[in-house]
Amino acid sequence: MKPYPLIFEPVFKERIWGGSRLEQIFNCKKPKGHIGEAWIVSDYPEGKSPIMNGELSGKFLSEVMKTHSKWFSQFHLEKFPLLVKLLDANDDLSVQVHPGDEYAMINEKGGSGKTECWYIIDSAPGAAIIIGHRAKDRREFAELARENRWNELLVRVPVKAGEFFFIPSGAVHALGKGILLLEVQQSSDITYRIYDYDRIGLDGNKRELHLEKAIDVIEFNGGNYQTVPNVVRENDLVKTILISCNHFAVEKWIVENMHVFKSLKVFVLIYIVDGKGQLIYEDGLIHLIKGSSIMVPANMGEYKIQGRIEAIACYINTSIV
Ligand code: ZN
Repeated sequence: MKPYPLIFEPVFKERIWGGSRLEQIFNCKKPKGHIGEAWIVSDYPEGKSPIMNGELSGKFLSEVMKTHSKWFSQFHLEKFPLLVKLLDANDDLSVQVHPGDEYAMINEKGGSGKTECWYIIDSAPGAAIIIGHRAKDRREFAELARENRWNELLVRVPVKAGEFFFIPSGAVHALGKGILLLEVQQSSDITYRIYDYDRIGLDGNKRELHLEKAIDVIEFNGGNYQTVPNVVRENDLVKTILISCNHFAVEKWIVENMHVFKSLKVFVLIYIVDGKGQLIYEDGLIHLIKGSSIMVPANMGEYKIQGRIEAIACYINTSIV
């Protein structure tokens, strides 16, 4: 079978803190509750997004990886390495931290660590996230946490649409009320909850915290989580390199009219943030609208994007595969 661009059907996740913006983006009627997350490209067991088009329709990425490994990379990949989500927060989420690969391997039954990043798509006036902390060492962190001095301990940063934050494993973080964002992350879900604003859950209890493990993995030399974007202009494409780390690279693409893209040596995931157009490849075309998510196979060859499109593209770093 010749490689072709894959389109995915998102998996919606109901969350107590979810809002209503994901239903609008995807124009979906089904979920009645608060949809907090849409897993738009996922092969994570708790929510795999099925392929919606062509011969592979209905299949999951793990199945395609077995039969068409060259679509992903020239190199062997153990599992699909990325997870792309949209999150719509109608309330403050708990303050948390994720372990790195090494810690997860030893302490979480061989799981992956989780480095993630956030591209803010929409934000209510005054919206903010928590990113980083002010403790100088583990002892001070534990002390301030025990004394509930959260405002002193946690760093709150106001955000607006178009901003980008890199959240490596070990970075303390929390999504704030009123924010809609795109998250690109390692395919993992290991989270240590540090603080939940002392809220009582539906079952009448506070949610479990994992302060001890959190303090084990928190980074104390962390600093600047807002990276300096590198803007490259290539004809009708304005490409902003938002991050390039060991786990992934993330770019913002603005296509004004038409741009020809060369295949990378790895698959590329593209999420359409705004605009309208087409992705044209040797054997056909795919319509691009706000909310579309596409995987361009590693071995598909050249393709072009036509129209006016604002997209976030991500891929695994070729230097590490
Ligand atoms: Zn997180």
